[in-house]
Amino acid sequence: MRWNRLILGVLVAVVLAAHTSAQEKPAAKVVKVVRFGKLWDAKGKLWTNATVVIDGNKILNVTSDSSAAPAGVEVIDLSKYTGLPGLIDAHTHMTFYTDETPGVPLLKQMINPVPAVEVFLARKGALRTLAAGVTTVRDLGADQYMDIAMRDLINRGEMIGPRMFVCGYGLYITATPFKKEGTPPAGGIADGVPEVLRAVRQQIAAGADVIKMYGSTGTDDDVTGFETYTFEEMKAAVDMAHQFGKKIAIHSYGPDGARDAVRAGADSVEHATDMDDATIHEMAKRGTYYVPTIDHNRYYIDNGDKIGYAPGYKERLQAFIPRNLETARRAFKAGVKFAMGSDAIYTMFGENTRELGWFVKAGMTPEQALQTATVNGAALLGKEKELGAVAPGYFADLVAVEGDPLSDINVALNNVKWVMKDGAVVVDRRQNAAAGH
Ligand SMILES: [Zn+2]
Repeated sequence: MRWNRLILGVLVAVVLAAHTSAQEKPAAKVVKVVRFGKLWDAKGKLWTNATVVIDGNKILNVTSDSSAAPAGVEVIDLSKYTGLPGLIDAHTHMTFYTDETPGVPLLKQMINPVPAVEVFLARKGALRTLAAGVTTVRDLGADQYMDIAMRDLINRGEMIGPRMFVCGYGLYITATPFKKEGTPPAGGIADGVPEVLRAVRQQIAAGADVIKMYGSTGTDDDVTGFETYTFEEMKAAVDMAHQFGKKIAIHSYGPDGARDAVRAGADSVEHATDMDDATIHEMAKRGTYYVPTIDHNRYYIDNGDKIGYAPGYKERLQAFIPRNLETARRAFKAGVKFAMGSDAIYTMFGENTRELGWFVKAGMTPEQALQTATVNGAALLGKEKELGAVAPGYFADLVAVEGDPLSDINVALNNVKWVMKDGAVVVDRRQNAAAGH
């Protein structure tokens, strides 16, 4: 009895000690300083010899007065590089990560994956995403709430990855043929207004940050864009999401779903090609974000055999890309706001920012393209006061690139040398980087 009590006492002491020391780490206010040769703050200023003072996971101050740095703190010297805010990818599928397992097509790897295994594997995609300079993602569709698990593991510091804003199941219509023996209802299937309302509420109850609705056909090597949901169903989803203070993204490969999504009040329209002028005009007027995801079809073309698409996919995808680009060009010209979304899935993680190259092709300057992945992405998340810029009070998410991304967007795509997320260095590929700085 006594022994038991003694052992229990010791255990409690050990657990308490462990608990205390574990808690001390994030609570400790560690001030550090990062110096950049140039810094694009996404707020309209290009700094020369910028000093960013970081307190814990937040930016305390940005200054060009190097003497303003507090004495005796860690200094990370990136004066050879250009600093950017941590980038935001507004469309990912982090938990549809696959590897290069020999002989197993990527599509096959996605059939009933064990959630715990899939979330564990997805850490690799998360690291590659960080290495591309992406420190925040809006993840638009997962199974079995793997996205919620992954988001929470990252927020708890148990997994290293970008900050995730997730949707749980995307909503989609019944698209499985009738079977006498019945088809088990999959999460996210919702037909008609009442079911749509239920499905939106379910995602929010499960912990979703944002709602995703599939308003048309089209995915993988299928580039059809037939509208699936009706305007009334979209309107119901939008209103219910907004009632809970959540934003909603509506997927549409074709123009009809996009037209109804915009008029229903969606916060963003994903993918859409061939949008008519009236819809584009309406998007500009309402401030609806366009996330064209042009580059993901390039990825599918490059990797379709590995993924396991049936022959003929290359031609279909090849024909879709110019329509997508042309729609982006027209929308940009009309003043529609863009957010960068890669639609990264399978092995695409790490290629998240290639979309910016297409945006420049669509008529943006490199700076305008970078805005889609910073201030615009943050506003689409409703986090414009804490993400997407380098300024006091913002999260200490920083990227160092070698070269001038404002004159050549490829610098942001290919020359990421160092990444900080939440005040911690998560990527360091500098040559001769001193071990402890
Ligand atoms: Zn997607």
